[in-house]
Amino acid sequence: MIVRKPLFSGLIELNFQAGEVLGCNLYLIYDQDEWVLIDIGYEETVDDYIQIIRDLDFPLSRCKSLIATHADVDHIQGLAKAKQALKTTVTAHPNAVEPLRTGDTLKTLALIEAQNLRMAMPPVEIETQVNDGDVIRVGNLELEVWHTPGHTDSQLAFRLGDVLLSGDNVYRDGCIGAIDAHHGSDIRAFIKSLTRIRDSDVRWLAPSHGPIFAKDNAMLDKVIKRVEGYLHMADFGTLADDWPLMDQWDEEVAQGILPEGLQLPT
Ligand SMILES: [Zn+2]
Repeated sequence: MIVRKPLFSGLIELNFQAGEVLGCNLYLIYDQDEWVLIDIGYEETVDDYIQIIRDLDFPLSRCKSLIATHADVDHIQGLAKAKQALKTTVTAHPNAVEPLRTGDTLKTLALIEAQNLRMAMPPVEIETQVNDGDVIRVGNLELEVWHTPGHTDSQLAFRLGDVLLSGDNVYRDGCIGAIDAHHGSDIRAFIKSLTRIRDSDVRWLAPSHGPIFAKDNAMLDKVIKRVEGYLHMADFGTLADDWPLMDQWDEEVAQGILPEGLQLPT
């Protein structure tokens, strides 16, 4: 038995609890004996996390469900193993069902050939699908489900009172979840999700990576502005709306305009 270190009433983050960062953030939400776990991380750390939960004196049989914030390997690789160990169910957004059921290594970013990055992605069935506006009850607590696509099309966030478990939307340093066409990133959707978070009356953001932090609208304004810029930049390739330089280039080619100072050789 170890002493519980909740960050808010009914909310423990397991890395902070352990005093050691083992992987992505795992939020254990509980009321009396009933609990859910938001994300599980990699397969190799499942046993460590289950041991921590046991040491915290939560009955393993009272795990109501394992919840996936989204279908990226660093959050969900351990689901199949943990589901079996805890004899529980898995909850996720409908867009996560197929990649998880089939163990889709491409969509979960488990396989990035060009970087020689190859991870296993054990398939797992999702029993409960949740979408925006749904409520997940844990004892007497209510987790309000937000669908916040952008980083991926299956990204969920969960509101518990003043706290938003904000997934891979935004981190304390203003970075955002990776933008990658292969796992369904969408820059316009991302801007909408970040704007929704900014405009909400949530006080605290509890992201899937790094520390919890107070929601700061000035910081979020800067982030949103930056991401809006991506819509008109080549940096994210096919995910951008346009690239103004190409329009200028069309014109310059048509008119034969040369860069200032360049003289054609005669
Ligand atoms: Zn992710």
